[in-house]
Amino acid sequence: MTARLIDGRAIAAQIKAEVRGAAVELRTSRGIVPGLAFILVGNDPGSEVYVRSKGKACDEMGFRSVTERRPATLREEELLELIRAFNADPSIHGILVQLPLPPHIDEQRVIEAIDFRKDVDGFHPVNAGKLVLGLPCLRPCTPAGILELLARSGNDPGGKHAVVVGRSNIVGKPVVNMLMQKRPGANAAVTAVHTGVKDIASFVKQADIVVAAMGRPRSITGAMLKPGCVVIDVGMNRIPDPAAKNGTRLVGDVDFASALEVASAITPVPGGVGLMTIAMLMKNTLEAASGSPGT
Ligand code: NAP
Repeated sequence: MTARLIDGRAIAAQIKAEVRGAAVELRTSRGIVPGLAFILVGNDPGSEVYVRSKGKACDEMGFRSVTERRPATLREEELLELIRAFNADPSIHGILVQLPLPPHIDEQRVIEAIDFRKDVDGFHPVNAGKLVLGLPCLRPCTPAGILELLARSGNDPGGKHAVVVGRSNIVGKPVVNMLMQKRPGANAAVTAVHTGVKDIASFVKQADIVVAAMGRPRSITGAMLKPGCVVIDVGMNRIPDPAAKNGTRLVGDVDFASALEVASAITPVPGGVGLMTIAMLMKNTLEAASGSPGT
């Protein structure tokens, strides 16, 4: 068997086109232009790249975006003050503080300072709680993108057994909670595995859907998979590659070559989950601006 590729680029483009259309409708019917504020503390080159590409996506969507850059020496109270100013600004519907923050700043306190209605990253405890309860909320972008990839590639998780490898607050836990909800596009039996589980291979072998989100390069191999399963590879790991121009290469948490022979469908890295995150951020910003977050 050779697995079909789940095309993150095409699905992300489809979602962005829908968001662009809905943004035009929001502007013409209610005079609202979605506004997204980025806060960048320090000069981490990776964060700079992320914020630039998110800003570019805002331009494509017809959104307004502002970027506030601050030095790594910024005091936590000054950052909280900036967040409060954006919370109070009616032209700003989404606030994104690019993580990671310098170690002297308490990330959780910063996340909780954002008005949960403007929390387009979906990290605020109010949104995390609503997600678990199945209530409308702003959902974390990468996990929400995973559910879109499944639905739009014709791999409905309903009634399937999904095994999620990893339980971080930004990927694993929200994916588990989204997949188990009683609603179309979810409704799966879900198992979460992590470093506390001795034999993850025995769980992965039972999965109709595997979501690999552990940050360990190519550690789920074809031999571990059930024939015909669907594989969603969230991992983004840089490994040395002397043949590559910059000496490194991006690989997932799944050994793509061997998984391709066993799975029925798989997301490539790059070209899969990674491209969905910004598309879902745009969707969240639109939902925040229109005042109707999704479920
Ligand atoms: P993380 O915070 O480091 O969490 C990793 C999780 O995987 C933890 O729950 C850990 O278990 C578990 N884990 C680690 N090694 C394991 C192993 N050998 N067996 C079983 N479980 C294991 O990572 P993250 O932020 O969730 O990110 C995961 C991956 O997704 C990374 O490669 C990251 O770069 C990528 N990512 C991609 C996107 C995107 O595509 N846009 C977004 C976010 C993350 P414990 O809890 O027991 O420690």
